[in-house]
Amino acid sequence: MGETAYRTMLDAVGAFVYTTDIQGKFTFANRLVLDLLRPGLRLEDVIGKAFTDFVSIDEDDELRATDRRVLENGETIEREEANYIHATGELRSYWTTKKPLRDASGAIVGMVGISHDITNKKRLEDRVLRQKELLDTVLENLDALVYMKRADRRIVYANKQLANVFGRSVEDTIGRLDSELMPKEVADRFWVIEQQILTSGQRYAGEQSLVDAQGRKRHYWSVVVPCEDGDGQNALIGLITDITALHDLKEELQQQARTDGLTGCVNRRYFFELAEVEYARSRRHGTPLSLIAIDIDHFKRINDRHGHPVGDIVLQDFVGCCRGLLREIDILARTGGEEFCILLPDTRLEAAGEIAERIRTMTAACHPVDAHPSLQITASFGATELEATDPDFQSLFARADRALYLAKDRGRNCTATLSGS
Ligand code: GH3
Ligand code: MG
Ligand code: MG
Repeated sequence: MGETAYRTMLDAVGAFVYTTDIQGKFTFANRLVLDLLRPGLRLEDVIGKAFTDFVSIDEDDELRATDRRVLENGETIEREEANYIHATGELRSYWTTKKPLRDASGAIVGMVGISHDITNKKRLEDRVLRQKELLDTVLENLDALVYMKRADRRIVYANKQLANVFGRSVEDTIGRLDSELMPKEVADRFWVIEQQILTSGQRYAGEQSLVDAQGRKRHYWSVVVPCEDGDGQNALIGLITDITALHDLKEELQQQARTDGLTGCVNRRYFFELAEVEYARSRRHGTPLSLIAIDIDHFKRINDRHGHPVGDIVLQDFVGCCRGLLREIDILARTGGEEFCILLPDTRLEAAGEIAERIRTMTAACHPVDAHPSLQITASFGATELEATDPDFQSLFARADRALYLAKDRGRNCTATLSGS
């Protein structure tokens, strides 16, 4: 092959190729080098001149030092050279190989330099690196357990928080089977859901409850999405948030919303919810259901004579007294200021009347406030039982109320019973 053919070939390789003599002066430069030095420059213009005759560069000293290592020590150098100031003023990066050129006797006569422009590759790498750092920062600081699992049940990614749950490092978690990391039945339970996601390709979001190593019930919100791993294999990404505190708070608030703050018994609103359930159950199974309505007698006087706080203690004591005489399934509710209701499933009117009488007698015999030993209270009771003709619970409730007013009319501190017919 002739010299022109070689030159044409070197112009076409897509890399910067040049040779220098022992002083670092150009003995050859391909088209890319010439255009880098100055667009349109001819080979004759550079022969015998040094790189720095054309381009001012910051790395001059360093560059000369590497050239010396090649020219004086005969080393081969492969390294990245960054930030050459291009003819356009653009900052670019190169991967450069410099090798000594030797004559027939082996003496160094110059060097050959080959450089690839790696600017775009580097920019891309930098961007990927920055994105990875950002993602790592997010994943490590997320208040969630994050994992990626393949269809063979191996964990291919785990963030630090998840690894901590397993008591392992991230490195020691990745690559393991789910059943190596958690009890088999827990892993299998998750896998049932995960398999469905893999086959359906549908995202899943839901709550799960687990009992932890300390025996505490914990609640998690999981979002699991199907994806592909780096090799194009089916995989899953899961984000699990511990919502135990939120869950407990929700339960507590729900409990508060259903409970009377002073006496701790069911409040009026929740009573009617529960009553509807009991009414439906009684209708479905044909079992009896009775209701007692209660109103403390002359309660206003107690407040007036002893003060509101004493009135509060009386109400609390009354609830305590009722509780002691009721079954687990009976529902005691505070339906008004000094008004209460007791719903008695599986109870006939006669038995309801007896229970009312027992509570009444006990109430009348008690001294509810230690600081006021002379203080005694009485209450009036109206009892009734659900009849076949009652169209709804309200009908039963209204009759219990009428029975209560009968008891008040009869002089208080007594029980009146009313049947529907
Ligand atoms: P009656 O025998 O006719 O039922 O007379 P009463 O005084 O019990 O009835 P009234 O409806 O006139 O008065 C009820 C009183 O209950 C008035 C109210 O101040 C008091 N009350 C309501 N809620 C509370 C409470 O939470 N604490 C206290 N201490 N008193 C309350
Ligand atoms: Mg009242
Ligand atoms: Mg009253």
